[in-house]
Amino acid sequence: MPKRPTPENHCSFCGRPESQVKLMLTGINAFICDSCVDQANQIVNEHLHTAASQKPKFDLPIPMPQQIKDYLDQYVIGQEDAKRVLSVAVYNHYKRLKYSAEHDDMNDVEIEKSNIIIVGETGTGKTLLARTIARMLDVPFCIADATTLTEAGYVGDDVENVLVRLLQAADYDVPAAERGIVFIDEIDKIARKGDNPSITRDVSGEGVQQALLKLLEGAVVNVPPNGGRKHPEQQMIQVNTRNILFIAGGAFDGIDRNIASRLKSNVIGYSGTRTRENIDRENMLRYVLPMDLKHFGLIPELVGRFPRLTYLNPLDHDALRRILSEPKNALTKQYQALFQMDGVELVFDKEALDTIVDTAVTYKLGARGLRSIMENVMTDLMFDLPQLSRKKQVRITKKLVLEKINKSNINNSLK
Ligand code: ADP
Repeated sequence: MPKRPTPENHCSFCGRPESQVKLMLTGINAFICDSCVDQANQIVNEHLHTAASQKPKFDLPIPMPQQIKDYLDQYVIGQEDAKRVLSVAVYNHYKRLKYSAEHDDMNDVEIEKSNIIIVGETGTGKTLLARTIARMLDVPFCIADATTLTEAGYVGDDVENVLVRLLQAADYDVPAAERGIVFIDEIDKIARKGDNPSITRDVSGEGVQQALLKLLEGAVVNVPPNGGRKHPEQQMIQVNTRNILFIAGGAFDGIDRNIASRLKSNVIGYSGTRTRENIDRENMLRYVLPMDLKHFGLIPELVGRFPRLTYLNPLDHDALRRILSEPKNALTKQYQALFQMDGVELVFDKEALDTIVDTAVTYKLGARGLRSIMENVMTDLMFDLPQLSRKKQVRITKKLVLEKINKSNINNSLK
């Protein structure tokens, strides 16, 4: 507790007597009045703030590519090539940030960023990969849907709105957003129809691609802070996209036919050793080249802004089976946790899981379908569970799975 000063005490900073101030604090050999405390507080805050903004801009630990991939492996089954490409891209992204924070000199080497496009059928893990990377990163991250974007002046979102999400993810800390990562989903949906540049304006396709170019190129973009249309009276936030890493994903339906015909006419493709016989016909996407994206309808300038192109494998029986039980938050583990909360151990027979996967494969439901089938199998059990709590274990057998699948008329309801 501060000692009460005697009446003749004066503030050692402004000299005012105690009778003219609200409060006087006593130190060992000095006094300070309340208004000098206020002022000192302001000076301290200003100083600390300036000191913080002068700190090196990038002091995050850089995760190694292997560390990033190990993390992805915990959540995403297979997709080795894409994981390696993403891990290296993210690692280089961090290194670029560190480098540009340390080298301001215009004469220094400029490390260009390496935006990525992932081509893969729907439901094979594009968004999952992006989300999982986001979870492990210390940089702001957002997912934007290309289908909602339109050229400025048309109904829909202006392209700048992609950056609004990033700003929100960064709590409107602009320097943080400027080193973030943006995942643009469904990039194939803004392809122009056909290979030829259109003469008429193409609202949903080429125009949006042109607008996106600006973001990808690295420009200072005016972003409306709350999204939506730009209004003349609205205060804009300026975001420099030079250091933002863009990852785009798309299913590019039908691109496999295009790749197949290219391979047929030109077997040389990647390596001289490839012959028509050893081409993996089940997975044409692994041979995707930038020219296929152009053929699909992405403008060459846009394709050129994504120097890395990778693909996802279709999910076969084995992959689906692993997805069911191996990832850290696999469906079986989620249900086991739910049952555990009622004090019941949930056990899945191997044959039961195989039957679930068989059903997903038969009806071409993919990984997303696994969840619907599981729900069909588990709903009745979960309904009865609280009353069954005397039971210490519930076992999911093949017989039970078949019974529930037949009862649910899965072939109609899940299609
Ligand atoms: P898309 O490629 O259409 O973006 P998603 O990433 O959204 O597909 O995948 C849909 C769901 O399927 C995911 O939430 C996940 O549960 C499951 N899934 C798909 N691919 C994988 C995979 N390779 N490993 C683990 N789960 C996967």
